[in-house]
Amino acid sequence: MINSSLKTLSQMLAKKEISSVEMTQTFLNRIHQFNPTINAYIALDEAKTLAQAKAADARIAAGNAEPLTGIPFAQKDIFCAKGWRTTCGSKMLENFIAPYDAHVISQFDNAGAVNLGKTNMDEFAMGSSNETSYFGGVKNPWNFDRVPGGSSGGSAAAVAARLCAAATGTDTGGSIRQPASLCGFTGLKPTYGLVSRYGMIAFASSLDQAGPMAKSAEDCAMMLNVMAGFDERDSTSLNHPKEDYTRGLAGMSGDKPLKGLKIGLPKEYFADGLDAGVAKVVQDAIVEYRKLGAETVEISLPNTKLSIPVYYVLAPAEASSNLSRYDGVRYGHRAAEYTDLTDMYCKSRAEGFGAEVKRRILIGTYVLSAGYYDAYYLKAQQIRHLIADDFKQAFKECDIIMGPTAPSTAFRAGEKADDPVAMYLQDVYTIATNLAGLPGMSIPAGFDKGLPVGLQLMGNYFDEARMLDVAHAYQQVTDWHLQMPDLKAPEGLK
Ligand code: GLN
Repeated sequence: MINSSLKTLSQMLAKKEISSVEMTQTFLNRIHQFNPTINAYIALDEAKTLAQAKAADARIAAGNAEPLTGIPFAQKDIFCAKGWRTTCGSKMLENFIAPYDAHVISQFDNAGAVNLGKTNMDEFAMGSSNETSYFGGVKNPWNFDRVPGGSSGGSAAAVAARLCAAATGTDTGGSIRQPASLCGFTGLKPTYGLVSRYGMIAFASSLDQAGPMAKSAEDCAMMLNVMAGFDERDSTSLNHPKEDYTRGLAGMSGDKPLKGLKIGLPKEYFADGLDAGVAKVVQDAIVEYRKLGAETVEISLPNTKLSIPVYYVLAPAEASSNLSRYDGVRYGHRAAEYTDLTDMYCKSRAEGFGAEVKRRILIGTYVLSAGYYDAYYLKAQQIRHLIADDFKQAFKECDIIMGPTAPSTAFRAGEKADDPVAMYLQDVYTIATNLAGLPGMSIPAGFDKGLPVGLQLMGNYFDEARMLDVAHAYQQVTDWHLQMPDLKAPEGLK
């Protein structure tokens, strides 16, 4: 059951082959077995979880279930969930109990889904390895010496280790797709504005976007159906008509389902810096796509190399502003001892934030300062437009863009922790889509030396349905997305 698709789980519940309480308990048991080692979840509340499962069973019995009713999901700890401790991976919010639900959480609740718990993450979603979390690192289920990627590392490990049916994540510069690549599952970052950011703790508001992290494209489509939609409480939520993201999936089998599809391969994504083992897996996946009937064309995204520097001006700038709310007055950590108000601010922030968050606040404050604004912030905004224009040009020549998701497979814990620039380069292929506001996806495409490799798909604005179809077509003829790590239960636990 743990490797079943959401559709299968939904059918099992509908046919009463299993109850939601039993299904939820199965995942809770796995969490008990493996979470002490993997550290994917940082908040569990079994009473709440099982109450939701019971309510879901009643709803199923009453005959008004929706596709996700009764299915247990993991929620990234960046989403406020009423009554749940919500920390964003920070000491600053160590004791914060959210008084309301994020839009994403209420959408899952309304669908009758079960919340298994809150997942570990890099502090305030800043990181690519989950090592900046105040609650400790997360182990990659494929190899415990390796990181799961980040910042959605807890959700990633939970999906890969089958400690949930699927999970949510957020992606500001790659935090759904890079961990999806490193942990071997399917993750989708929607078009900016498609999923409401209401109640999602802000990092860089013009880039942050929530999305599904699941085994397959089909699972992601079912989750996106629940997550997407206009919400007036988020001023950047887009009033895009509701879509059924599963609508095209059925047509994706049979001979040459992708006939007529033009795939763009950006030459900058296959240049220096890409690990040879990763390149091989990606090239093999592209061969498979040609077999499915697609045609490939070489394209260019000339400003690719500027996306990291631009991001590391803009994201810290926005973060420095967003994180100014943590002042020890309203909520969050407050220093125990201080001499006056300024000292209280300083000590509370010095104690509450970790090193990476402080680094970003410093950079962000610097680039926004009167003397440097034009040189850094304004310049970065201008280049952001050029990056978006690159994609606009590219989509004149192709329907979808493909390339690697991350430059390497999962690296060792500690390997890049002291080298921020090496860490930042993990997102070299993902950040541009965030800057442009475009949707992107990572799907499992194979392994290199026993570690998963992801293939990235990038679509035009609101082209999620097509991306999902294209991913699904590949998943009809490959089984990378169904492979799971062989986890051994610790002694004494069954
Ligand atoms: N790794 C990038 C960063 O550290 C992106 C993180 C994210 O997408 N939340 O900012």
